[in-house]
Amino acid sequence: MNKADSDRLESALKNLGLSYIDSRNEADLVVLNTCVVRQNAENKAVGTLTSLKPSKINNPEKVIALMGCMVGPKTDNLQKQFPYVDVFMQPQQFDPLINFLSENKGFDTDGCLANVTAAPSIATFIPIIHGCDKFCSFCIIPYRRGRETSRTIEDIVNETKMLVQRGVKEITLLGQNVDSYGHDLAGSRNLADLFYELNEINEIERIRFLTSHPNDMDDSIIEAINDLDKVCENINLPFQAGNNDVLKTMRRGYTNEEYRALIDKIKYKISNVTLTTDLIVGFCGETDKQFQDSLNLIEDIKFDKVHSAAYSTRTGTIADRKMVDDVPDDVKKDRLTQINESQEKIVTKINKNLLNQTFEVLIEGKKEDKWFGRNRNDKLIFLDDSDILSGETVNVKINKTSPWYLNGAKI
Ligand code: SF4
Repeated sequence: MNKADSDRLESALKNLGLSYIDSRNEADLVVLNTCVVRQNAENKAVGTLTSLKPSKINNPEKVIALMGCMVGPKTDNLQKQFPYVDVFMQPQQFDPLINFLSENKGFDTDGCLANVTAAPSIATFIPIIHGCDKFCSFCIIPYRRGRETSRTIEDIVNETKMLVQRGVKEITLLGQNVDSYGHDLAGSRNLADLFYELNEINEIERIRFLTSHPNDMDDSIIEAINDLDKVCENINLPFQAGNNDVLKTMRRGYTNEEYRALIDKIKYKISNVTLTTDLIVGFCGETDKQFQDSLNLIEDIKFDKVHSAAYSTRTGTIADRKMVDDVPDDVKKDRLTQINESQEKIVTKINKNLLNQTFEVLIEGKKEDKWFGRNRNDKLIFLDDSDILSGETVNVKINKTSPWYLNGAKI
């Protein structure tokens, strides 16, 4: 989400005639886009902001803007802590900076926010719903990003058409809870309706979406993924914890059994689907036995990727106010290691089975002189060949596997 927001703001600033420079100290304007979903991320943002102070003292004309989740509805405390910051902007709200540039720097900002979109590349992100209504007890997002607000289908289709003219072939539709897209729009249209509309755009080759919530992934979405040729068969479905009591204190709204039943349905209905997940270890009160339920889920379902994190308290959340972060750090670390070791074995095996198989790969670019792209299941694949173009779709036979990526050659 933050990457998409940064790209959009960059597009608006380019409309004003500004251009990107790779040095915070020399830039006339610095925008720090922050993620505070983890305490570490917030600490890093504070460090970066503090490091900007000397350059503001040397050049008082420099503009410093703080954007993203670190900025809540009230900015009094931030203003006190960082008096040298000129502008504070909540996620997706670019107006404060644009107005500042108009009022204090003489820019003609009329229309600069119209048609802002991500920087052109082969694969790009499109935010379709902002905020979250779920209030999971560990999560700060609903407080910082607000309640769910969906963009209209028309708006998203127009943006996609504009992006394809710039060479984009793959879009990833983004939302903190992407499956609840549309519930706040007139006419009760949902993510499946959006998929059908986007699938009609000729030049788009692939449509992906992130992140799903088990309670909102209804049958129409599952059927659309299976029906539509451009919607890719890869779903990130966080389970967060495997134990029902922990899930309850997390306020996730489903049980282990319900989650497993949903996975079974998805696997049954969507051929060749791959699944990834998010998981927190060491949540308040999680016992060794309860943690075992998470490990069992990983071992039973066999995800292609697990994004795991040790729980850390976020000020202002329900867990911060009402629960105790009582699992010792070394226990959290040990549980994380167990998850990672188990997952590495699982994905090593999954990927080994892909040896000698052929996949359609959309080439995204070069890394260290090797072309790379992804298949529909979002597997990162490097190629032996050099006669390739960015944006090309090629059939690739896998000749080497590892837990983290595959390697292959064109056929
Ligand atoms: S659904 Fe996701 S974004 Fe929303 S509160 Fe829960 S963890 Fe946070």
